Amino acid sequence: VVLARDVRMGYGGVQVLNGVDFTVAPGEVSCVIGPSGSGKSTFLRCLNGLEPVLGGSLRVLGEEVGHTLRDGRYHPWTPKHFAAFRRNIGMVFQRFNLFAHQSALDNVACGPVHVLGLAPAKAREQAMEQLERVGLAAHAHKRPHQLSGGQQQRVAIARALAMNPALMLFDEPTSALDPELVDEVLEVMRGLAADGMTMVVVTHEIGFAGEVGDWLAFFADGVVVEHGRPAELLADPRHERTRAFLSSVR
Ligand code: ATP
Ligand code: MG
Repeated sequence: VVLARDVRMGYGGVQVLNGVDFTVAPGEVSCVIGPSGSGKSTFLRCLNGLEPVLGGSLRVLGEEVGHTLRDGRYHPWTPKHFAAFRRNIGMVFQRFNLFAHQSALDNVACGPVHVLGLAPAKAREQAMEQLERVGLAAHAHKRPHQLSGGQQQRVAIARALAMNPALMLFDEPTSALDPELVDEVLEVMRGLAADGMTMVVVTHEIGFAGEVGDWLAFFADGVVVEHGRPAELLADPRHERTRAFLSSVR
């Protein structure tokens, strides 16, 4: 699903990704950990084409993200091409960004109506199924301000699922939540993993990564310093940087 080789990216001449190698196979959950500023969010944005890849090669869902110019540089696709591609990728951020004036149900049904062209009645029916999946069917009529942070994040997950994505990207989905609300969101993500959803999850929840991740990647300074099975990587990190990071967060 994802095949990244030596991916490079920078902002205004400052290199942020310095050659990322990363793969995700269908149905796998890959977790990403690493210090602030190491390029985790930037890499996720490259995966769904929000940032141009400047070097190396990146294939996502069978598409080459960016194409090589004659001089060897990479160039992003046209916006139209990306719009079609991104439909297959669900993204969940730290901030939920729900539409404040719409009910949970309408937030979830909105994409299928406006982007996929589904009939509103059909979209609402499917939105209800997604809200059931995240345990919020009883709250479908509520607006975001009537929901807790954890509930809002679950609506955001349902909204992404409603587009029927082949790949879900999570960027620290629980970091903005009060501690007591973290588990309900992780529980929903556990369920998705059990359903076979292909996921890339940037997280500070080391316990979740160890339990749910098929793979764990440690990012530092724009590269994957260490990549392996979570149980092994967490119990016996090979690199000093990984060891130092893990002891700082545990
Ligand atoms: P965090 O754990 O804090 O979310 P991160 O690993 O996700 O960190 P990124 O957000 O990918 O890190 O940022 C990597 C580097 O790129 C940082 O030095 C950051 O300041 C820089 N950066 C990120 N976004 C931009 C931008 N839009 N313009 C310029 N520099 C940026
Ligand atoms: Mg980030």
